Amino acid sequence: MLAVRSPRSPARLVYNGGVRWAGRTKASTSHHVPADPGDAPPALEVLGVRKSYHQGSGDVVVLNDVSLRIEPGEFVSLVGPSGSGKSTLLHLAGGIDRPDAGVVRVDGIDLSQLAAGALARVRRRHIGFVFQFFQLLPTLTVQENVELPLMFEGSRQNDARELLDRMGMGGKARRYPGELSGGEMQRVAIARSLVAGAPLILADEPTGNLDTTNAGEVLDLLTEQVRHAGSALLLVTHDAAAAARADRTVTLEDGRLT
Ligand code: ADP
Ligand code: MG
Repeated sequence: MLAVRSPRSPARLVYNGGVRWAGRTKASTSHHVPADPGDAPPALEVLGVRKSYHQGSGDVVVLNDVSLRIEPGEFVSLVGPSGSGKSTLLHLAGGIDRPDAGVVRVDGIDLSQLAAGALARVRRRHIGFVFQFFQLLPTLTVQENVELPLMFEGSRQNDARELLDRMGMGGKARRYPGELSGGEMQRVAIARSLVAGAPLILADEPTGNLDTTNAGEVLDLLTEQVRHAGSALLLVTHDAAAAARADRTVTLEDGRLT
């Protein structure tokens, strides 16, 4: 079963393979039937995850039996010392890397069970990423960068231009990333993370490369727009003020989450 979002509404819809949900029989060309909110799987479920890296003469255990559950729409901040494995955990949650052991489910989907193509689709539709260094494509315009995640999809999801307007970037839709400031590039990256209507947004120190004023503004926009979209947010941050806005803060230390 795949849980997906309607193009323009944060309401959760469930597709269960063409079989009508909850005994509904209405004939329709759409497979999408609204689910009871109680049926929604967690946006993210990390269960007993371990990850080691080979370093020098031996293995370094970065994540040692880490578990984390984030409900739909929940905002969780992730803090911890540099090198404690925050980015590693985000990469596992986002299907960019695989754990040595344990389970990662996004929107109820077990990422370890997916072949490369299916994993790529889940990443496009169910997960939005915001990185510290923006990761925009320099040869695409602002609007094209935001629309990139939709390129492989048959249907239109959120409107890129509308998202750019919300981020205060509507006037620069035809510019290129090289013409923007860091704060502006991050606004574009946030719009891109939201364009597919993904239920899980992962942000890895999104304000780490911005000055204080810009960092505050970008953080406001990120949290407002994620809430507006109804998505869950896992935010890695060193900023105590940012962490304080979250529904909950978890700390990674010595390979464990507390
Ligand atoms: P954080 O984001 O909390 O600063 P990271 O997740 O980036 O921490 O890194 C955690 C530890 O894992 C560090 O010791 C880092 O050197 C190591 N590490 C991360 N990625 C790799 C990799 N691809 N190969 C080897 N070691 C890695
Ligand atoms: Mg990191």
